[in-house]
Amino acid sequence: MSESSTTATGFDDLIAANQRYAETEFTTGGFDGIAHAGVAIVTCMDSRIDPLRLVGLKPGDAKIFRNPGGRVTLNALEALVLGVHLLGVKRILVVPHTRCAMASNTEQELRERVGQSAGQDASWQGFHVVGDQRAALAADVAAVRSHPLIPDSVAVGGFMYDVDSGLLEQLV
Ligand SMILES: [Zn+2]
Repeated sequence: MSESSTTATGFDDLIAANQRYAETEFTTGGFDGIAHAGVAIVTCMDSRIDPLRLVGLKPGDAKIFRNPGGRVTLNALEALVLGVHLLGVKRILVVPHTRCAMASNTEQELRERVGQSAGQDASWQGFHVVGDQRAALAADVAAVRSHPLIPDSVAVGGFMYDVDSGLLEQLV
């Protein structure tokens, strides 16, 4: 960042691509924020996951909430309650995935790897690793289903996404 500016540098390629996108591909101008397919998806931040396309949806169709591991956190529940009551969500998919870093490292391993990258102590940083993905998925789906503000009329499913085949397997 230069001394005279508070605007970070290094984004020029992305900004240029955005201008092309706005001119050629952008189609949701004037859309409301409703999930037009009535779908919300909670999934991992993993770059191998294309949450809309993997279930045949497109921009405008769904609310997407992502975090490391695809966990139903308090923030995810907050998003789902808003989605159900204000944004047209009728079906909720919770979608962790195979070969997830959050499920293949221990908390200690992640702290050590981050600490090595950062060149400083990272032992204070929490990472909410997942010990048993299937058990975590069952608990996460139960947390959504039992939320007092998410009615039984909303379908809540738990799925494992295989990053090598592109297939979803429903587990809950
Ligand atoms: Zn992941």
